[in-house]
Formats: sequence, C-alpha cells, structure tokens
Amino acid sequence: MDDRYFDMYPSFERLSGFMARTSTRTFFNDGHSQAALTDRIFYSLNISRNHVAWPVQVHSGTVDYTRDPGAVFKCDGLVTDREDLFLLIRTADCIPLFLGDKESGLKAMVHAGWRGIYNGIAENAVLLMKKKGSCPENICAVFGPAICEACYEVGEEVAVLFPDHNRKQGTKFLLNLKSALNQQLNDAGLKSENILLTNSCTVCQRERYVSYRLNKTDERLISIIGYFL
Ligand SMILES: [Zn+2]
Repeated sequence: MDDRYFDMYPSFERLSGFMARTSTRTFFNDGHSQAALTDRIFYSLNISRNHVAWPVQVHSGTVDYTRDPGAVFKCDGLVTDREDLFLLIRTADCIPLFLGDKESGLKAMVHAGWRGIYNGIAENAVLLMKKKGSCPENICAVFGPAICEACYEVGEEVAVLFPDHNRKQGTKFLLNLKSALNQQLNDAGLKSENILLTNSCTVCQRERYVSYRLNKTDERLISIIGYFL
C-alpha cells in the first residue's frame, strides 16, 4: 500500500528493526467504516488477526506485558517480546507512541493522551521493557500523528499539570503533549537521538488524519508495530 494509506517511519524502523505504521483517513474516504477498518488494515498489511494484541484503552497510565493475541483490558499500552505478535492502538488526537529495542527484541505500542502522560505511561512502558531485559539507552521511540500545541487548547486545570509544557494564550492555555512525552522519555533514560519526533497534526492536517477535538468523530487512526513479513 502506498503512503496515502499509511504513515511510515523509516528512521524508526531502521533504528529499532520493527515495522511501524499508522493508518490515514484514506481508508474512511474509500468508504470503510470504523468497524471494517481493522480487517481492511490487516488485509493491507498481510497480517493475521490471530497475531495481533491490543489494549482496551481507558486513558490510564497502565502498560501491560503480553505474549498472547487478543484484547488486554484496562490498560493503554502493551509490551511484548514475542516476535510474531503485532501490537495495535487507536487514536484521534492522542499520541501513538512506538517503542522498539533491536537488542532485546522488545517492542511496545502506547496510547499517550494527557491523562496517560500525566500518569507516567511512557515511563511505565520503559520500566516494563527494562524489567523484561531492555536497556533504556537501546530503546528507540517515534511519535505518530497527534494534536499539536497550536491546536490543543486546554483549561487551566489541565495546564497546571504540565507546568513546563503549556503557554497561556489570552484566557486559554495551549498544551504541548509531544514535548511532555519527549521529556518523560528522556527522563526514563532514552537517548535524545533515539526519540524521533514527527510534526504531523491531526487537526492541522485534517484531510489526512482524524481528530476527536475537531468533530467528535468515532473514527480512529490505527497504529501497529510488528515485524517485517
Ligand atoms: Zn495542529
């Protein structure tokens, strides 16, 4: 499939050794419903559903370890060292965070919104990878498309939770989720050159992505990490 259908992360793939993709709006433009989307994506990527695990996301800071396909409840990130298992998350404005470590063979897929980041979701993912055998300095990260600072107005009650990552604009606050997540990964021991930031914004680039902020949509982008078939 071409890059109209998926965001690809070649630098991350080279550094981590893992395949990483995020679907775009093109699937919906082609007439696929959210319900049909995952099957269509699995088909496009030649992935069997029996080789995919996903968290039933609840905007928590919880990350779980799995070696089994299927749903994992009450968490927002998954870590695995099973080579033939793909990990999947759904987002619309929150950050899809891919983590991979070529040395240990561990990978993670994380749904990072403000609640998750505030609850330490990236740190929790790195700690779990460390517990399973990764050295943080070997872990690579890439951020998928997410709402940018200029588009992300929040109330003061959210802004105060991220004192280093917001700025006041009139009576509102703008929250920089990506810088908050970047700092958490740095603090967790990742090398800054191993954290790959992308500029894609789900609101600025509304014709390519989907944004819950913008239109309260049920549609979600799907991010997948796995191996090269
Ligand atoms: Zn934006």
